[in-house]
Amino acid sequence: MLNRRQFGLMSLAAAGALAAPMVVRATRAAAQAGSARNVILMISDGAGFHTWHAASYYRHGKLGMEVFDAFPVKTLMTTYPLNVERAPTNDMTPKVGYDAAAAWSTAPGEGQLGADITKLPYKNHFAGYEYVKRNYVDSAAAGTALSSGIKTFNNSINWTNDGKPVRDMGKAAKATGRAVGVVSSVQVSHATPAVFYAQNVSRNNYAEIGAQLLEEAVPDVIMGAGHPMFNRDGRYTTPAGDKAFQYVGGADAYVKLATGQSPYKLIDTKAGFEALAAGTLDLEGKQVYGLAPVANTLQYQRGTRGNDWTPEAPMGNLIETVPSLETMTKGALAVLGTKPNGFFLMVEGGAVDWAAHGNHTGRIIEEQIDFNRSVEAVVAWIEANGGFENTLLIVTTDHGNGMMYGPESDTFAFQPVVNRGQGNLPEVQWHYDTHTNELVPVWAKGPGAEALVAASTGEDLHTAMVGWGSVNRYHDNTDIARLMMSAMSAA
Ligand SMILES: [Zn+2]
Repeated sequence: MLNRRQFGLMSLAAAGALAAPMVVRATRAAAQAGSARNVILMISDGAGFHTWHAASYYRHGKLGMEVFDAFPVKTLMTTYPLNVERAPTNDMTPKVGYDAAAAWSTAPGEGQLGADITKLPYKNHFAGYEYVKRNYVDSAAAGTALSSGIKTFNNSINWTNDGKPVRDMGKAAKATGRAVGVVSSVQVSHATPAVFYAQNVSRNNYAEIGAQLLEEAVPDVIMGAGHPMFNRDGRYTTPAGDKAFQYVGGADAYVKLATGQSPYKLIDTKAGFEALAAGTLDLEGKQVYGLAPVANTLQYQRGTRGNDWTPEAPMGNLIETVPSLETMTKGALAVLGTKPNGFFLMVEGGAVDWAAHGNHTGRIIEEQIDFNRSVEAVVAWIEANGGFENTLLIVTTDHGNGMMYGPESDTFAFQPVVNRGQGNLPEVQWHYDTHTNELVPVWAKGPGAEALVAASTGEDLHTAMVGWGSVNRYHDNTDIARLMMSAMSAA
């Protein structure tokens, strides 16, 4: 394994490969960024424009009520990768991009596209629909852009397209003396959490990623799902072979973790997570490994059989023994808030993306609401601990997914979802079962947040079509990493 200095050098080498205009923008962003004691990045994975609105309609009956709606900085972001290959190609030339005119074209579309169109044929009703269905990023390349600031191939966990590891945001934060926290509603070694502590040529090497986590122990707090001893309904189960242990780094790694032979104290009961959040748990001087007692997701997969999805995945009847993302977030803050030199924290609503893949309107709203409550917990913590003068908070997603639009959006291009009031599912129609190359929203508050506006490369006025008319300027996902790095190095 490479040491920190080698990672740093490789990160610099990779940065040098970026196109000149991006370097100029980075310099400008850095000059305007303030210094922050703490930096918190919150990612609702796969939350396109209407995921946010649908959750607000269901939760509040109207828009504008979420805590981040009042943030001073609201922008849009491009998310495309360097290329859409699944392994390094050694060609650093960008192969894909974003063209606003093409993305919002209302010209008639042709054919159909879907990750599995034998199940659901998704017609390309308009040319814009077809455009955003192509050349999309996966969570690994998207997360790598947010964490290390480079564009790369899909599947990459902080791995360049010419086959080199780059330093992630977790290690960068550690190098400044800060503590590090990584929290997710999916497996601890899934792509988005992994990009904040690991380097690997493929996101699918879960056991290697999980082993790196335990070996290097960079996060002071790691939390998520993927418990080998529990099924997707949170019931205790006999692990089915080595694969059941892959998300925690293999069977040997799990034994070390569970028997106290690692730098981490294992917390795997709801009561344990709640005691951590209340600050009453004795950590015995150890780091925290919070493994929710459930297989893959906190709640999303309950009552289902593998990928045998039905169109209806009912809301409610949550697994009672599993902590919410909100409780996990509070637990992470309770630990990180005691650290002398501040911290970097990433919180992911990972199952939002899974619900988008499944086109499950009710459950994506459940997952997004748990994420929104987690944002509220973070804001409450910030306000009680030095305010936004000390902490930079960024709320966003890594890419769109599922193209949730209004009920007549096969006829009326980009029709927004229709509000049916508080407690009622909005009227929607899904147009895809995987990721998109759409712009995505970003909210930010705290030292240097305005640098995202300064980094923007243009305005996209088409967003009024989807009810996002007040947010127009867009920058790139790599600008988020640059802002967070400069906010931490300047402190
Ligand atoms: Zn994602």
